Amino acid sequence: MIDLRSDTLTKPTEEMRNAMHAAEVGDEGRADADGRGEDPTIRRLEDMAAELMGKEAAMYVPSGTMANLAALMTFCSAGQHVGVEKKLHVYHNEKCAFMDRPGGLIPEFYEIDGDHAPVSDSIKALSESQKIDLLCLENTHNFAGGTCLSKEQVDTLCLLAKKNHIPVHLDGARVNNAAICLNISVNKLVESVDTVMFCLSKGLGAPVGSILCGDSHFIVEARKTRKFLGGTMRQAGVLAAAGIVAIQSERDRLEEDHQNALLLAERIAPNRMIHIDKKNVQTNMVRVDVSPSGYEASLFQQGLEKMGLKTLAISNKYIRMVTYREISQKDVVAASDIFYAYCESL
Ligand SMILES: *Cc1c(COP(=O)(O)O)cnc(C)c1O
Repeated sequence: MIDLRSDTLTKPTEEMRNAMHAAEVGDEGRADADGRGEDPTIRRLEDMAAELMGKEAAMYVPSGTMANLAALMTFCSAGQHVGVEKKLHVYHNEKCAFMDRPGGLIPEFYEIDGDHAPVSDSIKALSESQKIDLLCLENTHNFAGGTCLSKEQVDTLCLLAKKNHIPVHLDGARVNNAAICLNISVNKLVESVDTVMFCLSKGLGAPVGSILCGDSHFIVEARKTRKFLGGTMRQAGVLAAAGIVAIQSERDRLEEDHQNALLLAERIAPNRMIHIDKKNVQTNMVRVDVSPSGYEASLFQQGLEKMGLKTLAISNKYIRMVTYREISQKDVVAASDIFYAYCESL
C-alpha cells in the first residue's frame, strides 16, 4: 500500500528515537514568573524555534490545532472578530476557535483571488473599518494544495493590517515548506507577522508537537492560555527532543518531498480524466480535480485504495496526495501507475 493521505504519516527517525531516549527532562508544569517550565529539553526546543522564526519567544504545544487556538484566544476574547477565509484550516477544519466554546470568536471573511491568495482590497476594507481584531493567514495553504504566499504578499497584507493596529497570526503549519519553495530563509518570510505557528509533526517528521512563536510578552500570555486549555505537559522533553532533531536534520530534506510531488503531478497530469493545475504544485502536495471524469472524489479515493493507493478526498471535486519522508521516488512512480490503471478501469 502506498499511503499519500498526509505528511502527518511520517514516523520518528532513528536519530529522533535516540534523542528521545537520551532526553533530559523536568516538570514543565513547575513554571517560573514568565510561565516557563522546568523541562530543559522543551526550553532548548523553544529557544531554537524562536531563533529559527526570528521571533523573541516560542511555546511548545501538543498540536497545531492548540497552537492556533492558543494564539487566537490570547489575542482576542470571546465575541471579538477575526479575519479569515472559508478554506483556512483554522476555520474550515479546526473550528474550535469559532465555536461557542472554547473560542467564541466571530469570523469575518475576506475575499481570495483564485484559490487562496487574500485580496488586499478586502483586507484593507476589513482593517480600515475596524471590523476585525486579528487577521489570520495560512502559508502554505493546505486546502489549495500546498501553495505559497510570497514574502511580498505577506508583507503587503501585514502592512495593511498594521496601519490599523490589527495584529496578524500566521498558520504556518508548513511554513518551512513555503520557505524552501520560495528560496528564502523562513525568518524573513515570517518577519512581518506578529505570531506564527508551525508543526513539527508533519513533513518535519516529529511524532508530536507544534510551536507558537511571537514576542516575549505575547508568549507569556499564551502560556496562560495553554495552561487553561490543558496543554501544559510534564516531562514532555522526551517529545521535544524529537522536535529538536526535526528542526536540525529534517528541514532541508523537505526539498525531496517537493521534487517527488512535482514528479507525481507531471506523471498524472496528462490523464484526461482529471485536471491538475501545475502552477499550484509548489510544495509537497498534489491536488487533483477529478471532475472531468464525471465521478466524485470519494469514489476515486475508494477505488484507488482498493488498488493499493491511499489518497484523501478533500471535497467532491478534489483528491489530495501528499509526499513525505517515507515516500520514495519509486513509490511516486508506482502511485502514478496505479492512478492510470484506476482511471482506465472506470
Ligand atoms: C495540520 C494543520 C493544522 C493543525 O495541526 P494538528 O497538529 O493536526 O492539530 C493547522 N493548520 C494547517 C494548515 C494544517 O495543515
